[in-house]
Amino acid sequence: MNANPTRRQFVKTVAGGLATLSFTDNMLADKSSKKPPNLLFVFPDQMRGQALGFMNEDPVITPNLDKFAVQSLVLTEAVSNYPVCSPFRAMLMTGRLPHANKVLSNCNSNSAPFGCELQESDRCWSDCLKDRGYSLGYIGKWHLDAPHKPYVKCENNRPNFAWNEWCPPNRRHGFDFWYSYGTYDYHFTPMYWATDSTRDKPIKIKQWGPEHEADLATKYIRNEGGRYRKPSKPFALVISMNPPHTPYHLVPKKYVDMYEGKTYKDLINRPNVNKEDDTPGGKLARKHIKNYFAMVTGVDDQFGRVLKALKEEGLEKNTIVVFTSDHGNCLGSHEHPTKNVHYEESMRVPFLVRWPGKIEPRRDDLLISTPDIYPTLLDLMGYAEDTPKQVDGVSRASIFLTGKGKRPTSQLYMWVPVGKPAWGRRGIRTHRYTLMISKTEGKSTEYTLHDNAGDPYQLKNIASEKPDVVKELTGELEKRLRKNNDPWLA
Ligand code: CA
Repeated sequence: MNANPTRRQFVKTVAGGLATLSFTDNMLADKSSKKPPNLLFVFPDQMRGQALGFMNEDPVITPNLDKFAVQSLVLTEAVSNYPVCSPFRAMLMTGRLPHANKVLSNCNSNSAPFGCELQESDRCWSDCLKDRGYSLGYIGKWHLDAPHKPYVKCENNRPNFAWNEWCPPNRRHGFDFWYSYGTYDYHFTPMYWATDSTRDKPIKIKQWGPEHEADLATKYIRNEGGRYRKPSKPFALVISMNPPHTPYHLVPKKYVDMYEGKTYKDLINRPNVNKEDDTPGGKLARKHIKNYFAMVTGVDDQFGRVLKALKEEGLEKNTIVVFTSDHGNCLGSHEHPTKNVHYEESMRVPFLVRWPGKIEPRRDDLLISTPDIYPTLLDLMGYAEDTPKQVDGVSRASIFLTGKGKRPTSQLYMWVPVGKPAWGRRGIRTHRYTLMISKTEGKSTEYTLHDNAGDPYQLKNIASEKPDVVKELTGELEKRLRKNNDPWLA
């Protein structure tokens, strides 16, 4: 595979490619600039890496991301190592793997008795930036607090199962501007706790979540009335949108209308989805594919509005912009409804990073892992020495900036059943293969191996045909797990 097409080739492949910012011109102009960069980190929930128009995989409409891609480093093989909400979010914030950061599964009332939540004592990248004088804003879904009784009164907190929790100021890891919630999937009637909201007084909104959040992000970027951040200081702003997460029908009609005339036959192009029979996965895909893509288009539209504000404020050049997601979405592929499995649709996420004049726009197949994001961002921003020793991730800043540097040969995959850290699935993904090993109490260990080069839709398990590959990859997996004292090895 040609991992690094030239920039010209890349521009040519991008639909409606706009002129990019001139890399060398900006490089020269920026030499004297020593202002610390801002960071804008945008990550919708459950947006798979295939759902980017310019990648020519899903037939999805993403004009803003297509344009942004021409100006960005696009990591085509970025994954979520534990592809479900809270574990990804905790790895993102701490740079540590789940057994180290204690977020071994989603934060909810089921996992709460096991202490599953972001630790106040962990040092997040946002804590580091706060100590560097940054203004820090967090808008949208957080999902890193365990719900506690009496549960917050809201639709998805029921007496026997609760999801949503307020994040008190002492657990916000340096974010001084707060407009967030734990988990809450009502996209047309979202709820938030603002910086000074008390637990019993969330704000209820009647507007599509991503649009509302983009409105607020725009105000933050413009610093309207000087109310949002210190004008003399750099800022880091996170926007964590809930769509394209379920429920898929909660999407503005204007985005669905953009797919007018398209049938599920036009939209489902993955051969690992059952388009003929009434299997649960096949039915799910046919019912929701249009709305899922419409939501992605809506997220793209709102992301475009935020980028516009950044440009209008003259902040485009000195702001590192990252666009990614916490995990993907099978939506019927392999008969699987959503995520938390080793398949490409679940693990692969968008990863685009733009820093005009510093990061040359191109594609790269770097096998980046979620914990790498923390040290990479701090390194890019000039604070490599702030990354604590306990961080498991490795800075890939050199590869971002020059294309050169040590490259990982694999990415970890994990799933841990609630309260059973020694069980569940572990795996390893390389440029060529995905190996997944499943350990269930009382059952024999199961092996799944996919050749992602010869079988990109992972239709065949070739574990029994390729014992040598299984052995080699198991060795690599065990080496990684030993380093992190994963009790699964025992
Ligand atoms: Ca999620």
